[in-house]
Amino acid sequence: MVCPVCKYDMIVVEYRNIELDYCKNCKGVWFDYGELELLLESHSLEETKVFLDGILSSQEAASSEKKRNCPVCGHKMKKTAIGEQPEILIDICRDEHGLWFDGGEVAQLIRRLAGEHLAKHDPGEQVINFLEEVFGASQ
Ligand SMILES: [Zn+2]
Ligand SMILES: [Zn+2]
Repeated sequence: MVCPVCKYDMIVVEYRNIELDYCKNCKGVWFDYGELELLLESHSLEETKVFLDGILSSQEAASSEKKRNCPVCGHKMKKTAIGEQPEILIDICRDEHGLWFDGGEVAQLIRRLAGEHLAKHDPGEQVINFLEEVFGASQ
């Protein structure tokens, strides 16, 4: 798969049986929708479905960020915000192919996690925790 931001080939990173695609160039991360579901289910979150439905049906977030194209279908993705203070803006394919975290967003998440108390029951936070584990572990 090709990175939706810089068009470099992404590499597959596997962690705890979840595969994600990672762009070494811009440090962005792509989650297939199915992988995300697996990840959330592996934490036995009842809110999984609600979370996924929620981000799919959420309002487009106001942003000056450039729209990204889904690396699977090529259609423009929707910007949506997850987590709180600060919200992290992610890109999601409306056709349920997956979602994209910009490289800067992953770094932002990890910085934010460094000192903060986490809301353990928020599926959005679970995704963030997972990324922190993956990229914390691989550095
Ligand atoms: Zn890239
Ligand atoms: Zn798509």
